[in-house]
Amino acid sequence: MAGLLSLAFALPLPAHGGEGGYRLLELDGYLVKWGERELGVGASVSYAFADETLRFEDARNCRDLAPIKALAGRDLPMETLVRETKAAFRVWERASGLSFHEVGDARDADIVIGAQGRPRGRAFANVSYAPGPEEGVRAIEQALVCLNPDQEWKVGFDGNKDVYDIRYALIHEIGHAIGLDHPGPSGQVMAFLYTEAFNELQPGDLRGVQRLYGRGADDSEPANGLDTQLSETPTGGRLPALGRLSHHLYDEPASPILFIATE
Ligand SMILES: [Zn+2]
Repeated sequence: MAGLLSLAFALPLPAHGGEGGYRLLELDGYLVKWGERELGVGASVSYAFADETLRFEDARNCRDLAPIKALAGRDLPMETLVRETKAAFRVWERASGLSFHEVGDARDADIVIGAQGRPRGRAFANVSYAPGPEEGVRAIEQALVCLNPDQEWKVGFDGNKDVYDIRYALIHEIGHAIGLDHPGPSGQVMAFLYTEAFNELQPGDLRGVQRLYGRGADDSEPANGLDTQLSETPTGGRLPALGRLSHHLYDEPASPILFIATE
């Protein structure tokens, strides 16, 4: 791992942050995406489950990635976890020019999903990018998604927001893994508060992923009607009371997400 320079950055809140219901992940001032370093261009991305303990020295989040089976149990059988993960990837795939395929070996995967080796919080993502020219978008090199095996997880919504729906949590974390940040506290899947108010991508989520990867081939919906839909973006309404905030964080709002730049 020599030659890797790792830097942690508190993400600044740009003036445009959250406008349109999405916010693109910025690492060291660079937008990051999979595939070609051009906005609006799709990409093919592989993923795998960690089946052995992996250590990522330079990661801020998910440094110790334990086998995913640590998460499985009586209430969440492994085959259910696999199915829910597949469904979570499919949600982003349907909405954009992204395509995902599972590979057997985590060491060959673009996105690795595992259990936290040192459990904390609920779930985190770690994104690292490859070096590039001074200007423009940087290419994501690898992303990690880690879930806390000490937390209870469930499948589907039941109104109890202390136990997170695994698919919803995965959709959110995969959103980070493909280059999206939190637009704010609520109203979108990429918002940093857990909600059971909706179980699919919201207008801002769609605009965000389509800005990065374009629209999906089977997407016959009108394109990102950015301005006309803006006022429809839900931003409040179902916002949980602020006092409950700490119970419903996925990850710290505007959390410092580590990136790794190879010199
Ligand atoms: Zn998050």
